[in-house]
Parts: sequence; structure tokens; C-alpha cells
Amino acid sequence: MTKKDWATLRKLMVENQLRARGIKDERVLQAMAKVPRHLFVPPDSQEFAYSDEPLPIGEGQTISQPYIVAYMTEAIQPEKWKRVLEIGTGSGYQAAVLAELVKEVYTVEVIPSLAEKARELLESLGYDNIHYKVGDGTLGWPEKAPFDSILVTAAPAKIPPSLEEQLAPGGRLIIPVGEMFQDLYLVTREKDKFRRQKLLPVRFVPLVTLH
Ligand code: SAH
Repeated sequence: MTKKDWATLRKLMVENQLRARGIKDERVLQAMAKVPRHLFVPPDSQEFAYSDEPLPIGEGQTISQPYIVAYMTEAIQPEKWKRVLEIGTGSGYQAAVLAELVKEVYTVEVIPSLAEKARELLESLGYDNIHYKVGDGTLGWPEKAPFDSILVTAAPAKIPPSLEEQLAPGGRLIIPVGEMFQDLYLVTREKDKFRRQKLLPVRFVPLVTLH
């Protein structure tokens, strides 16, 4: 596979899986047409990197299906001026998509080996607006709060209050919630009022809590 072949597969992914299913934000579609998703999956799953499915990334974790990445990214309205917190760095793929779109990305991962691998890859790709932390993302990243948007890629049983508290006024939080069965929620903050909207059923790995 040449670089051009991968780019062709990406373009097909964008048209058939994303645009065809209702993703409209052109900037999001462009970012997903650009980020080399095949570099974020293990070598033996590379050929499936642009198919319509989640893939294993080691340590029992998974990279979400492209549609879900696009859907969540669109939902937080990733405008250029924003500072965004991601919980669950994993492979680093979602962080790369965000870094294409917003000003600064803050990403927290609880498994050190995944965090380190993601950081190496993202730095080698030239992303210089991503900030990394190893630790329990349930607590957010208080020193860097507030955030204009927060995107959580592992599911807690309930929405962690610290994440809501770290949203700026007007901010948007997208998060899968539930145990066996999960729903994606969008929380929007207006001053000290939180509006919680249930969007669609999803399946994510659990958000582990260390305390
Ligand atoms: N966004 C990732 C997908 C990650 S899968 C990507 O694009 O590849 C979910 C990730 O959340 C896993 O890497 C898992 O280790 C991490 N995770 C689980 N519980 C966590 C916690 N409490 N804090 C931070 N990360 C956590």
C-alpha cells in the first residue's frame, strides 16, 4: 500500500461511512480524510483501519469505529479557538482528529504504555498542540480547566461530576454512560445549569476508577 492508496481508502471511508450517514461538518470530514488512521492500529489490523468497525489497540482496549469518532467530534462543535479535554488517549487517533480542528488538546490516559505509544506517534506526526497526562481521567485535568469541550472515550456508570465542573460556560461534554448497555450523552453547560441529552446507544470499554 502506498500513501496514495491509504488516502483513497480514507476518502471512501469519509464518503460511505460518514457523509452518507449524516456527518455534515466539513472540517470534521476533512480532518478524518487527513489523519492516517492505519498508523494508530497494530500492524496486523492495518488492512481494516478504514473499515466500519472498532479495532483492538492492545491492553484490551479499542479504537472506536470511524463513524463514532466523527459523530462525537461533530457533537462537541470543534471550533478553531477551543481548548478540548479528551479522556482515554488510547491509540491517540481521536486526539489527532481533534488536534487538526481545535487550538489545544489535553488528553488523559490511565494505562502508561498506551499513553507513551500514543505520544510518540503523535509527536512523530508533528502534532504540537496536544498535552499528555497519565492518570485517572474521571477526575478530569483540574489544573488546565475550564475546557470549552470535553470528549470521553470510555464509559463510566454515571457522569463524573468533576468533568461537568470543568466545562466552561457554554461548554459541551460528550460521554458514553452505562454498564452493560450504554448511551451517548451530550451535556451542555449554561452558567451553572447542565442540560443532559441522551443521543444514541453505543458500546465503549469501561472507564476505570482508581479511587
Ligand atoms: N480515544 C481512543 C480510544 C480509547 S479506548 C482512541 O482514539 O484510540 C478507551 C481508553 O480509555 C483506553 O485506552 C483506556 O485505557 C482509557 N481509560 C479507561 N479508564 C480511564 C480513566 N479512568 N482515565 C483515563 N483513561 C482511561
